[in-house]
Amino acid sequence: MVLRQVNGTRNGEKVVSGSVVEAGESAVLHRDLGYHFLPLKEGHGNYLVLEDGRKIFDASGGAAVGCLGWGNERVAQAVTEQMLAMPYCSTVYYTTKVQEELCRVLVDSTDGKMSRAYIVNSGSEAMEAAIKLARQYFLELSPPQPQRTRFISRKQSYHGITLGALAVGGHKFRREKFEPLLMDVTKVSACNRYRGKRPGEPDEAYVARLAEELDQAFQAVGPETVCAFVAEPIVGAALGCMTALPGYFEAMHAVCQKHGALLIFDEVMCGMGRSGTLHAWEQENVVPDIQTIGKCLGGGYQPVAGLLVNRSVVDVLEKGSSAFVHGHTYQGHPAGCAAALEVQRIIQEEGLLSNVRAMGELLSVRLRERVGQHPNVGDIRGRGLFWAIEFVANKDTKEPFPAHEHVAMAISERGLRPEYSISVYPGSGSADGIRGDHIIISPAFNVSADDIEWIAETLARLVEDYFAELL
Ligand code: PLP
Repeated sequence: MVLRQVNGTRNGEKVVSGSVVEAGESAVLHRDLGYHFLPLKEGHGNYLVLEDGRKIFDASGGAAVGCLGWGNERVAQAVTEQMLAMPYCSTVYYTTKVQEELCRVLVDSTDGKMSRAYIVNSGSEAMEAAIKLARQYFLELSPPQPQRTRFISRKQSYHGITLGALAVGGHKFRREKFEPLLMDVTKVSACNRYRGKRPGEPDEAYVARLAEELDQAFQAVGPETVCAFVAEPIVGAALGCMTALPGYFEAMHAVCQKHGALLIFDEVMCGMGRSGTLHAWEQENVVPDIQTIGKCLGGGYQPVAGLLVNRSVVDVLEKGSSAFVHGHTYQGHPAGCAAALEVQRIIQEEGLLSNVRAMGELLSVRLRERVGQHPNVGDIRGRGLFWAIEFVANKDTKEPFPAHEHVAMAISERGLRPEYSISVYPGSGSADGIRGDHIIISPAFNVSADDIEWIAETLARLVEDYFAELL
């Protein structure tokens, strides 16, 4: 690896202080070939440690992945033991104790609502499986409904990077080059209390308007052709921790039920405890037919994600072909299962969900106190330990910054400088102004009150300094 010492930020170039991997010298097909990446060496608790020894507080767990912090010995031990016992399982003929135990723990966490779990390696794979399972469900329903081939999802959403997941997602930048390859998916508006609700419009009226929009979407394509409506209970990267208004998902579910379509919840980012309950739907009075999970399932210790499938869907398959026509070489991977099982045990044994709720409450209060008054902070929103700050050019009109200024990216990169040393997750604004720039703060579930105070204090300084220099 070619390392270079850099002192200070160079204007217009994505470089922060410290050692960086020389962009032109790397053999990695990085996601940005011109970027000077920071070489990460270790992780201890909340801290990321670079090759030159510099420490950065990980206030977002990467992309809202880290839920136990880094260097957890119990998880490392569980993975190591599994790797030594049996690193791989061919799922054509075999299963493993860890896969069976993990799926049992996941299913039991739903109070009998879900009856099977399916383990894959990434959120995108989980979404692909969810899409295909919904289709297969209608083929095996009695009588079958083979005409159901379509999906309805939301304009402001992100469901993954593979072609099926990209098709149901609404992330324009990630989609646009691949549009000709994507299946045609109908999109409706997400529930956006900050930018979608009209001034003075009561919550109930906005929810009714969105339910009507969904109903119209069903009517437009022919309700009998729709497999499922797909949504994130809390919109993550695409809107920045946007929770739905009370009653929104109940209204959406009612529309789906009216038309006999399934409800798929993508809980890859907001699920597995991030929202303060293990499943985000527990706070929405709605149980999905299929649910995807990811990031906080294994907390970043292994690439692991999955599906939780409602009893009603499983029953149809059991009475039908008795097989889900889908499979990956590495599905149910023992090391992934071992990591996820241990992470979930720790979350339960240490009562971390109550810490998520308590520290989330403190984070919301402190962010509002320290950062909320800034003239370029338009909104602070979230739930549990899943919070976003949205930046605006004008607080009164909510006018976003032009997308090409990449304000969220610039703020998060500035945060990596030694004088702040804080890592947050950026989300860019969209060129159509529907989405503003935001940063996500999603620390580990075992974060302390002192950590929360430091995060709020440091972000206040960072935001203040950035806009003082920009404007
Ligand atoms: N769904 C949501 C809501 C996500 O946030 C993501 C990733 O950020 C995905 C799906 C895709 O997951 P992965 O990146 O693990 O494929």
